[in-house]
Amino acid sequence: MQFISVRTRLILVLTLILLSGFLITNSISYRASKRQIHSSIVETSLPLARDNIYSEIQRDLARPIFVSSLMANDTFLKDWVAAGETNTDPIMRYLTEIQETYGFFSSFFVSDITGNYYHFKGVLKQIHPDDDHDVWYYRFKEQNVAYDLDVDTNEAEQNHLTIFINHRLTSKDDRFLGVVGVGLDFNRVASLLDDYKARYDRNIYMISPDGIIQVHTDQSKILNTSIFDQPGLKNIAPGIMAANTRPAFFEYDANGNHILLTSRFVEELGWYLLVEQDETLALKSIQTTFMQNFFIGLGITVITILFAILVINYFQGQLEIMATTDKMTRAYNRREFERRFHFHTHANRRKTMDLSIILFDIDRLKELNDTRGHLAGDQVIKDIAGIAATTVRDNDMLVRWGGDEFVILLLGNTDQALSIASRLLKAVQDHDFLNDSHEGGTIQMSISCGVTGYVEGDTLDMVMTRADKALYQAKEEGRNRVLLANDPV
Ligand code: GH3
Ligand code: MG
Repeated sequence: MQFISVRTRLILVLTLILLSGFLITNSISYRASKRQIHSSIVETSLPLARDNIYSEIQRDLARPIFVSSLMANDTFLKDWVAAGETNTDPIMRYLTEIQETYGFFSSFFVSDITGNYYHFKGVLKQIHPDDDHDVWYYRFKEQNVAYDLDVDTNEAEQNHLTIFINHRLTSKDDRFLGVVGVGLDFNRVASLLDDYKARYDRNIYMISPDGIIQVHTDQSKILNTSIFDQPGLKNIAPGIMAANTRPAFFEYDANGNHILLTSRFVEELGWYLLVEQDETLALKSIQTTFMQNFFIGLGITVITILFAILVINYFQGQLEIMATTDKMTRAYNRREFERRFHFHTHANRRKTMDLSIILFDIDRLKELNDTRGHLAGDQVIKDIAGIAATTVRDNDMLVRWGGDEFVILLLGNTDQALSIASRLLKAVQDHDFLNDSHEGGTIQMSISCGVTGYVEGDTLDMVMTRADKALYQAKEEGRNRVLLANDPV
């Protein structure tokens, strides 16, 4: 029992060492990969996406801003207005040429004097302060800035985003003459955001300073979603708005996901460009690796433990054999015999079974030692032990009592013991000993046996003394015989 518990403890400690070793190294590498992924998102991939999109937008806006400023400084336009806007042909040709040369979505001029909206296709309409569509004009007029960008989703063009660059047209004496400019299809930038989303799983969108989404891959969010209402995002929204001079980083949690976000204010548009990446998604692959490594570790632990159990069992078996048997004959030793005797004679067990003892001794072994040598004597002892081992039944126990003396502990009555002893006697008589020795040839040997039965209340000493007496008597009577001990008195 003591040994088993030591073994169990050993296995437990081994399992613990292996598992915790795998778990610790695995966790360390998981944390390292996690840090690496985090820093590569924050330091490389997000800024790269953000600055790429930012320069794409700037590139898209630079030309129309330049062209509208050229238009605003065009003397032809100023002269034409000064001449009273009488003939619309030259202005239409002019606007058409601008539109065609630069490939803009549209080109226009709104006259403050006549209220005419000139378009490259003709006079589109008359603007009016009460018309919702014309609000931009009056607002721009009030603003007193050289130019301004106005963004609209163009419903006629499948919600294509259109950016109008409005430029102030003034007379030579600085009188406000109206607004001139071009319209730009912003869809190229919008599709770039789509591309980024598809390729890198990055969410890119733009918001105006009031937090309303202006550009997004999900069309339904445009113009009706505010980041001030979004879960998680709303907590960092004021910080995003405050960071309008340089790019900034934020993190927030939404729907169980950890999102990393970078922002950059686009001066020309007056909007913030936001680029997001879901760190939770990025960590999925290393989580899978972590689990894989864990199960591999578990497998290795199980195999190692099984192997350890096999080795321990083997050595435990060897130890048990060494502790309980005689090395030369493989018969049980005295200590094991005493243990087994006490086990069988234990009060509770005795009632159900008979127990007998055969004590036998090899006849005249000393002579053999003297004539054929000690090794021949050893061989005879081993052979007789072998014969005895095959003669006894599975449950009986062969013990080397010492020297050339053996005991058979027999689960049975004295009749059975006598019959087994006689069989053993005959088997020894019939055996040719030393048949493979080179000198002296084979030799016949015999044994003498004393048999006795266990009686309730007997000690081991008492039983052995009786058996010994019977054996002594058998020797006295001429050896090579079996004698039953007299009844105990
Ligand atoms: P008997 O029993 O018939 O009276 O005569 P014996 O010659 O066998 O004498 P006894 O049993 O009294 O003594 C046992 C002898 O067996 C003594 C010793 O020389 C020999 N012997 C005991 N153990 C060993 C052993 O391990 N190897 C060898 N070769 N001889 C042994
Ligand atoms: Mg002897």
